[in-house]
Amino acid sequence: MSALASRIELAGRVIDYELRRSARRRSIGLLVDERGLRVAAPPSAPLGDVERMLRDHAPWVLRKLEQWQSRRRPALLGQAGERICCRGQWLVLALDRAADAPQRVGDCLLVGPPALQPEAVLRRVNAWLRREALALFRERCARFSERLGLPRPRVLLSSARTRWGSCHPDGHIRMSWRLIQLPLPLIDYVAAHEVAHLREMNHSPAFWRVVDSLVGDHRPLRAALRSDSGAYLVL
Ligand SMILES: [Zn+2]
Repeated sequence: MSALASRIELAGRVIDYELRRSARRRSIGLLVDERGLRVAAPPSAPLGDVERMLRDHAPWVLRKLEQWQSRRRPALLGQAGERICCRGQWLVLALDRAADAPQRVGDCLLVGPPALQPEAVLRRVNAWLRREALALFRERCARFSERLGLPRPRVLLSSARTRWGSCHPDGHIRMSWRLIQLPLPLIDYVAAHEVAHLREMNHSPAFWRVVDSLVGDHRPLRAALRSDSGAYLVL
């Protein structure tokens, strides 16, 4: 058995993987575990076959790697110099005596007072992100519902990590506050998706036409939400 550090480009991203060849293998197998992406192949399998297998399963590979990376990312401690993301923009946490409530100044998020314990810093950052999230999500949902000629929906926050949004039959929308960390086009996709459910409570072609009328072609946005969101989420 031999292991070889290898590399492939999938969907425009350079992906490192470990290629292990083993006489016991009869076919090519893919695995993403705590060590990252690993490919097992019979000794004689051409590299072209291995790469074709990876390309054929690119969405699965990218999704699994994203989950792996988000598990690996160290949790935020609430210390100066750490970075958080708001609307896809990275902000450095800075402790500042003037910042009674967290304030965004340029590329920094000022949190105060400086003597604050890290857990208290985290609580303030969390509360700030939730406030930003609620204000933005309400504004985007209101904008999209107006464009469809619908009344403004009630918008509430959830803390979900994978279910970004939901629309309830009584007409209220729930969106995960964690979404505020992602770039605006991805937030808009989720908001438009849920608002479109106020018109079509299903995922029919008619539903997707409504989504597309609000954000353009939804497919690249939906794919980006799946593949890229892990890169922005620190909370
Ligand atoms: Zn839906």
